[in-house]
Amino acid sequence: MSASVGAPRQMLRRLREVMAEHESAQARLDKVVMLIASNIVAEVCSLYLRRRDGSLELVATEGLNRSAVHNTHLKPGEGLVGLVAEQGEPKQYADAQHHPAFSFRPETGEEIYHSFVGVPILRGGDTIGVLTVQNRTMRQYSDEEVEALQTTAMVIAETLASGGILSEDVTAERGRDSSIRFVGQSISESVALGHIVLHEPRIVVTKLIAEDAELERSRLQQAIEELTGQIDEMMERGDLARAGEHHEVLEAFVMFAHDHGWRRRLDEALATGLTAEAAVQRVRNDTRARMMRMPDPRFRDRLHDIEDLSNRLLRFLSGETATASTGVLPDDAIVVARTMGPAELLDYDRQRLRGVVLEEAGTNSHVAIVARALGIAAITQCKGVVEMVEPGDAAILDGRGGEMHLRPTQEVVHAYSDKVRFQARKQAQYAALREVPAVTLDDQRVGLHINAGLLFDLPHLKQSGADGIGLFRTELQFMISETFPRLEQQTKLYKSILDQAAGRPVVFRSLDVGGDKVIPYFRGGAEENPALGWRAIRMALDRPALFRTQIRALLRAAHGRELRLLLPMISDVSEFKAARGLIDHEVTLLKTHGRPEPSTLMVGAMVEVPSLLWQFDHLLPLTDFISVGSNDLIQFLFAADRGNERVSGRFDSLNPAALRALRHIVWEAERFGTPLALCGEMAGKPLEAMALIGLGFRSISMAPASVGPVKAMVLSLDASALSARLEEWLACRTTSLREELKKFAAETGVQI
Ligand code: PEP
Ligand code: MG
Repeated sequence: MSASVGAPRQMLRRLREVMAEHESAQARLDKVVMLIASNIVAEVCSLYLRRRDGSLELVATEGLNRSAVHNTHLKPGEGLVGLVAEQGEPKQYADAQHHPAFSFRPETGEEIYHSFVGVPILRGGDTIGVLTVQNRTMRQYSDEEVEALQTTAMVIAETLASGGILSEDVTAERGRDSSIRFVGQSISESVALGHIVLHEPRIVVTKLIAEDAELERSRLQQAIEELTGQIDEMMERGDLARAGEHHEVLEAFVMFAHDHGWRRRLDEALATGLTAEAAVQRVRNDTRARMMRMPDPRFRDRLHDIEDLSNRLLRFLSGETATASTGVLPDDAIVVARTMGPAELLDYDRQRLRGVVLEEAGTNSHVAIVARALGIAAITQCKGVVEMVEPGDAAILDGRGGEMHLRPTQEVVHAYSDKVRFQARKQAQYAALREVPAVTLDDQRVGLHINAGLLFDLPHLKQSGADGIGLFRTELQFMISETFPRLEQQTKLYKSILDQAAGRPVVFRSLDVGGDKVIPYFRGGAEENPALGWRAIRMALDRPALFRTQIRALLRAAHGRELRLLLPMISDVSEFKAARGLIDHEVTLLKTHGRPEPSTLMVGAMVEVPSLLWQFDHLLPLTDFISVGSNDLIQFLFAADRGNERVSGRFDSLNPAALRALRHIVWEAERFGTPLALCGEMAGKPLEAMALIGLGFRSISMAPASVGPVKAMVLSLDASALSARLEEWLACRTTSLREELKKFAAETGVQI
C-alpha cells in the first residue's frame, strides 16, 4: 500500500478543530488518532502517554484492538515504543516484529502489522508520550511523513500541557512531577522554602497552527534578523556584564544564530503548517531531547545556548521583553536564572524574594555579593536548572549545602523544616551575642563591620551588633538608578547613612564601576578585558567631574562629622596622590563657601591590585588607613576571573600564596602604624576569617548575615595559638591550608 503525507497543513487544521470540540477527552483522542491514520494512510495510529511510574499507557488507537486501550502498559524502555521514549527521537522499522526490542502484546492484535514508525511527544526535554503509526506492508515512511508526525506530536504535547484535551482521569503524568536535587555552590548560607520564578519567563506558545504560512515565514525572518542584530550589538558593545554573559557564550550565540542547520530545521517546521512561535518551540524540543541524551557534557553547554537563543527569538516574536521582576511574584519567590547583573537582582521586591539560583555566576561576582547583602538563600553553578524548572514549582533552596530540591518529597520537606528550625535557633544564639564584644580567648579585640551599599542595609548595622560599616559600596546607588544620581540625591543618601549609623564609623568607597559593575546609562566603550580596564579610580581621575561631585556630596553629608573615604583599585601611588589632590581641592571649596568641614577626614586606599604590595614604603606614609579588597586581590594574584565560574573556584583563598601576600600587608601596616582592615568576601566565612585573625588582621568587614557566625568563631578562638601554627605551615606548605585550618578548629573547639 502506498502512503502519502497528505496536506500536513490541512491535517493540522482538522486537528485543531477536533481539539476544540466539546466532547469528552477520550472521544477527542480517538478522533485524533483516526485523523492521523487516514492522513498518513496507515492502518494503525496509536497514542501512548507516560504514567508517574514511567510506564507508557496506550490511551487511544485506531487499528489496534479497542479493548487494549488503558490496559496495555509498557514498562520503561520496553518495546519499540519504549525505545522511542527512551531515546527521545523518531524511529522507524520496515519489519518491526523482527527487531530485538519488539515486545509482543497479544491483547493489541498488532501481530499483522509489519512497518512501524514512532515519534516522541516531547515537553521540556522530557518524553511524555509516543505517537505511533503502523502498516501491514513492510514500508519505509518518508521524511515528510515523519516530520508531519513530529509536528502533530508537538501539537498534542502543547495541548496536553495546557489541559486542553484530557480530563482529569486521563491526564499525562509527566516525569516532571518527580523530585530533582540540583547541586551547585553556596553563595549565602540561609535556607529558603518557596516557589520558582523564572527570571526570564518562558514564552508560552498558545497559537500553534498557522493561518497564513507566508505571514509566519516573514515574522520568523524578521525575528531572526532582530535577534542577530541584538547579538551583534552586544558583541560590539562588549556588553558582557549587563546580563552577565561571557564572551564565549555570545560567540556560541553568534554561531547558532548564523547556523544554517538550525535555520533549515526552523523552515522545515514552518513548512508543516506551524506558526513561527510553534516552529521555534518544535526545533527547540527536538534539539533539547537529542542533546540531553548525549553523554558529552559539552553538548549540554550547547543546550544552554540553544535554549537562550530560542527564548530570545520567542521574545522577539511575542514582543515580550520584561524580566520576572516587573510581574506578579509569589510571596516566597525563588528566582532561577542562567545569570543576571547585580542591579537586576535588586529590581525584585525584597519582601517576596526568598532566594536565587544561578547557573553561571562566580561565588564572588557582584550579583553574588548583592544576594548575600540581601540575606537571601543563594547558590550558583547549578547546571541545567533553567531548563528543568517550571514556574510555580515548589522548591527548597539550601544555601549552606549548595543544593536545591525541586518539587521536594514530603520527607525532604520534613528534614528541611527541622533545618529551618535549627537555623532559627542559631539566629537566636547569634542575636544573644549582639552586645557581646568580639574578643578572642587570648583577649584580642577584633572589629567586626558590615559591608553595605544601600539604605536598606542600615537596619542590619544595629541588628547584627557590628562595630560599623567597613565598606559602603557607593556604586550600588548608581547601578540601580535610571540616570546619574545628582549631587542632591547623593548627598541625601550619604547623610541618611551617617544619620542611621549614629556615630559608628562608616567607610565610604568612591565610585567603583567598570568590570562587571555596569551603569546602564553610562558606557565607557567596549573593552577586551573589562576587569583590567577603565574602572574605579582610573575612571575617576579621567573624569574628575564625576569624582568631584561625589566627594562634594560626601563632604556635605558629613557636615561636621567624621568622614572616611576609601579609594578603590589604586595600583600606583601617583593615583592616590592625584585623587587626594582632588579631595583636598573640594575641602578648600567647602571652606570658601563657609560650609562646615568634617570633624575628621580620613582617606584610605584599597589594597586590591598586587602592584601596591610593593609600594607600601611610598603609599603608607600618605594614607590614613588601608583596606584589603581580597576579592579583587586574589583574582589578580591568580589571574583568575572572580565572575567566571570556570576559573573562579580554581584557586583557594586559603592557598599559602594568598595568605603570604596578606601576611605581608599586615607586616607592612604594622611597620608604618597604618590602620588596616579587610573587606572582601573572605571576611564573612568563619574559617577564612579565622585564618585572617591568625595572620594578624584585627578589623574585618562582611555581609551582615555573617557577623553572628564570625563573632561566635572569634569568641572561641585562641589567636596566638593559631598564629604560631600558621607560621609553621606558611614556612613549608604549597597547597591550600583549608584542611589544616579545619583540623585546628575541630581540635581546639573553634566554632566554624
Ligand atoms: C574586593 O575587591 O574585595 C572588594 C571588597 O570590592 P568589590 O568586591 O566591590 O570589588
Ligand atoms: Mg574590589
